[in-house]
Amino acid sequence: MQYVIDFFDGSKEQNDLLGGKGANLAEMTKMKLPVPTGFTITTAACLDYLKKQEKVSNELNEEIRQHVRSMEQRTRKRLGDGVDPLLVSVRSGSKFSMPGMMDTILNLGLNDETVLALTQKTGDARFAYDCYRRLLQMFGDVVCDIDKNRFEEQLDFYKSKNGYTVDTDMQADDWKELVAVYKDIFLEVTHRAFPQDPYEQLNLAVEAVFRSWNNRRAITYRRLHDISDSLGTAVNIQEMVFGNFGTESGTGVAFTRNPATGEKGIFGEFLLNAQGEDVVAGIRTPQPISELEALMPEVYQEFLKLGHLLERHYKDMQDIEFTIENRKLYLLQTRKGKRTAKSSFKICIQLVEEGIISKKEAIQRINPTMVTQLLHPVFEPEYLKNAEVFARGLPASPGAASGAIYFTAENAKKASEQGEKVILIRQETSPEDIEGMVVSEAIVTSRGGMTSHAAVVARGMGVCCVAGCEEIYVDEFLEQATVGSVILHQGDTISVDGTTGTIYHGSIPYVDGDEWQLLETITNWAKEEASIGVKANAETPIDIQTALKLGAEGIGLARTEHMFFGEERIGEMRKMILAQNEESLMAPLNKLKEFQKEDFRAMFTLLKGKACTIRLLDPPLHEFLPQTVEEINHLADETKRTVAQINYRIEELHEQNPMLGHRGCRLAVTTPQIYEMQVAAIIESAIEVTQLEEDLVIVPEIMIPLIGSQEEMKWLRERLEQTIQEIFDQTNCVISYKIGTMLEIPRACLTAEKIAEEADFFSFGTNDLTQLTYGFSRDDSGKFIAAYQDNKLLKEDPFQHIDEEGVGALMKIAVDKIRNFDPSIKIGVCGEVGGDPQSIRFLKKIGVDYISCSPYRIPSAILTIAQEQ
Ligand code: PEP
Ligand code: MG
Repeated sequence: MQYVIDFFDGSKEQNDLLGGKGANLAEMTKMKLPVPTGFTITTAACLDYLKKQEKVSNELNEEIRQHVRSMEQRTRKRLGDGVDPLLVSVRSGSKFSMPGMMDTILNLGLNDETVLALTQKTGDARFAYDCYRRLLQMFGDVVCDIDKNRFEEQLDFYKSKNGYTVDTDMQADDWKELVAVYKDIFLEVTHRAFPQDPYEQLNLAVEAVFRSWNNRRAITYRRLHDISDSLGTAVNIQEMVFGNFGTESGTGVAFTRNPATGEKGIFGEFLLNAQGEDVVAGIRTPQPISELEALMPEVYQEFLKLGHLLERHYKDMQDIEFTIENRKLYLLQTRKGKRTAKSSFKICIQLVEEGIISKKEAIQRINPTMVTQLLHPVFEPEYLKNAEVFARGLPASPGAASGAIYFTAENAKKASEQGEKVILIRQETSPEDIEGMVVSEAIVTSRGGMTSHAAVVARGMGVCCVAGCEEIYVDEFLEQATVGSVILHQGDTISVDGTTGTIYHGSIPYVDGDEWQLLETITNWAKEEASIGVKANAETPIDIQTALKLGAEGIGLARTEHMFFGEERIGEMRKMILAQNEESLMAPLNKLKEFQKEDFRAMFTLLKGKACTIRLLDPPLHEFLPQTVEEINHLADETKRTVAQINYRIEELHEQNPMLGHRGCRLAVTTPQIYEMQVAAIIESAIEVTQLEEDLVIVPEIMIPLIGSQEEMKWLRERLEQTIQEIFDQTNCVISYKIGTMLEIPRACLTAEKIAEEADFFSFGTNDLTQLTYGFSRDDSGKFIAAYQDNKLLKEDPFQHIDEEGVGALMKIAVDKIRNFDPSIKIGVCGEVGGDPQSIRFLKKIGVDYISCSPYRIPSAILTIAQEQ
């Protein structure tokens, strides 16, 4: 097996074998760019070495020798030659870039004799000994594990002793003296002299780079970035070029476009009279690359030209390492440049506009999680490093915000009216907290999961939220939040990172993520490719507008109970819930109907004929019951009843298990008037809006929640159709409509072909379906899911990512049954996993027609679907 490949024999496709660096050096050599000659020892050689845990085999040594000889012929220099010595660099390079994780040795081939030859040849002893001391230092560190600081300390000591401030103050004799000191350190630590034989140096260096694959830094980096341990690293041996050869030499790193903003143009820095590691070490401050133009205009122009060429060739922004030796430019590495989300979007758009890549390729390059970074603020990484963590919870809604904490919606609202930036922190939120939630920069709850009220509402509004922070004890009465012995009080400042689920003490600066335009362009391109639809879970005008702006093709779930927020509406809702007879029921219902009509008219007007699925009332009633003494007193006043009567009714309505209790369509079975009112409001509003705007065709989709049987569906449908017919008769107007249901009860999935006889469409409510399939309470699972994950009983939270094996299997059964009955029936998904890229890939596979998710998740959902074509 061939373990060594010359640069001119390799290509960019071979990065498995040659590593990223080696493959690109080979490619640049093939392109005839100014790359110092060399060869790559393959990753296969490394794996062989690591497997055998022995010295480099004789065969490999022989192969390396042959390639060195061929390098010697090309360069007309010889390794170890006393007149014109060949010096080489030895660099690691694995398939995926692991910056700074593995090792590099420069100036290999120098010894007591060749350093004299180098002095002779260049006429520059300062340079030659500077190279030699660098080799001693790097070799000592990488091959013999000598603490780098041992060398640095001596250099610092020497400089201060002589009154030097920078390395370039060091003269030839100074470096010579230091070389002697470094050799002593080498001897002292390793009990042997620094090897003078260049081949021995080379063998030891290659072995050390192989071993560096398994150093602790590298292993940790691979864990963090999900890189396999079994890849191994290649080793690149390359003729040295010298950036430390005086002031007309230098070394640097540059990107072909700005990695932070995506701005076009070379962006980077360089150091004159320096070797590679000086730039990284940060001892001297590099100059911006633009200054190279004045210093060496021809080199600068050439760099621009080569950067452009490489970008065109690789069809992406490049991160290039270069060295200038005596005004001659060499390229030492090129690779795809790492960049921010904003820069990724911008560069993709530019590359399409410049005709370098197609729109399809651009879409493939955007990681859907980048959308989050683009739309939501993120904390500045610089400050985040030193921030002190207060607690961690679920990353319920992305974004970053700092503010003063408040424990009640009311206080949050008051503080916000005074101009304060507030964060609402509660055990859990309920519809009543909405006014406090709206004004908050962030929301934190100590209970509840990814589908809790706080999480769903915050995501809908695009407000940052960390839910289910079980480690915080929230005392709403004393207005304090406690973690261990740390107590925060009302008004204390915290910072909330909803993207990671972390809460920090104090305030942390953040950068805004408001890049709608970049997003719009990419989303529009993605829409052209997307094979299934993306709708929004939204009901308020502001959310609907946001959803449309972000690319929603309609509304897939308008939760009507969310329309009953606000003091007046919730009051009527409570009266309705507490009603005991037809008369006391109809008065609040009629008021609620007016509110609903107002909202539906606004919805239909905004949607201009786009799909609109409105779900009838589905709250577990306890969510709307009055809780505080004040609220109960107020309700007693309003309904002209005694407090005792109200309390008695609340007691009557109490349920042991409200999520499995009197909610969803069950409300309508006991009190059909509620759904009849809602359906009347929907149909009347649709008629009214079409009468005002004649070209509009509105086909409302009425969705019944929590259906479990064909009988329920049939019974309710008949009643609702009767109400609709009455409206048609009264108004003399007929419009099309659909009546469908959610699939959120396992029984509904298992009998879906029967329910399909009564339903015009379906939408999976995966929040409830997961709750009921797993038997995990969606509001309480936060208490134990983490322990399940820690003990590897669960890979991930099934409320965040669809449980393909269980919930997914049920969904598949339902889809097949429905399609069997009638392939044209539309099936969607409107639970929270509908906005999760990983889940979307699965949902698409089982054949749903669309997904519906919170407005801010729409672009990443569209992208995910487009990428899966
Ligand atoms: C669901 O259960 O998935 C759903 C969308 O409905 P809700 O979250 O309102 O119960
Ligand atoms: Mg539900």
